[in-house]
Amino acid sequence: MRISKKNDGPALMPGRRENQLFRKPDQAILKRWAYPLRMCHLVAEAMAARIERSKKLFRWKFFRGDFHSHTQHSDGIGTIAETAEMVKIAKLDFQFVTDHWGITQAPECRKHGLWVGQEPGTQLHHLGILGLRRAYAPQMDFLADCAELQRLGATWFVPHPTGWWPTRIYPKEAWKILEKLPSPFLMEVCNGASNVINAFDFTDASARILWDGLLRKGRKVHALGNTDAHAPHSIGIVWNGVFASRCAERDVLAAIRAGRSFLSDGPLLQTTLGRAGMGMDASAADRQNGLRITAVDSEGLRSIRVIADGRLLMEFDARNRPFWERRVALPRRVRAYVRVEATASDARRAYSNPIYLR
Ligand SMILES: [Zn+2]
Ligand SMILES: [Zn+2]
Repeated sequence: MRISKKNDGPALMPGRRENQLFRKPDQAILKRWAYPLRMCHLVAEAMAARIERSKKLFRWKFFRGDFHSHTQHSDGIGTIAETAEMVKIAKLDFQFVTDHWGITQAPECRKHGLWVGQEPGTQLHHLGILGLRRAYAPQMDFLADCAELQRLGATWFVPHPTGWWPTRIYPKEAWKILEKLPSPFLMEVCNGASNVINAFDFTDASARILWDGLLRKGRKVHALGNTDAHAPHSIGIVWNGVFASRCAERDVLAAIRAGRSFLSDGPLLQTTLGRAGMGMDASAADRQNGLRITAVDSEGLRSIRVIADGRLLMEFDARNRPFWERRVALPRRVRAYVRVEATASDARRAYSNPIYLR
């Protein structure tokens, strides 16, 4: 087929020449780098508004925040001030800046109301460390390092336990060693590294499989969902709803160590079994009362899933309702744990922390 190289008429509407950005290269450079951050601001604002609307339907007080992010004090591209600006736009209640190799970010973080942690690497896993006032140099022996952090009274967690999207997949050895950690411990079941807008990816799917595997073996593993943001753009794409009495670092850390939180990139979620809440041990009497589930998302909920002993126990169609609440009986055959997932109509999701049954 012959294609004519000649236009049949003008290539541009009259008077539009001056609007074409490529004719103003200086402006184009400024705009094309500011534009993605501007879009991320709009997305974070929209999510904050959605959560504010959801909170009106949710009876429990919680604080929303992220335990893992980076700045130029290690390999992140953002400054502390840019991180703080995004935290404000996303209306997060708290943000930890956990740079690799130390805590030189601490003075500036304090000025901006951000909390400080660190993330050194050991031979098999990185280590998320919170509430320690000095740089921790690992012995490069993962189990010994975890024991030492425990001894120092730090709150520590296993970040991206199966690797991080899209470049790093950990060997099965890295899965296996987690079985040797003292119970309970904290582990990221969602890590947003390299993601913008949406945190969940295939490494999070495998972290969820790892989590259920450990729980089924009777380990207590409290889950976290953190951005691991290396750019201010992704601050706020996943967060934890922490049931603490006040938004002070000590109280928030005590709450996550007790498993009193859910992770989410949209919905709000609460689960109790009798008097046992998330992260707690349920007694035989608690089981008699059944599992009470409350899920909220002002954008509408698609489904509620109950997972027990590594299997999908029940699934409910939430029919796009913003509020879903039910009490369900827990079958006698469930032995180790029960947890709940809520999925919103736009596929955003929340995972409750488990209630342990032994
Ligand atoms: Zn890491
Ligand atoms: Zn990190």
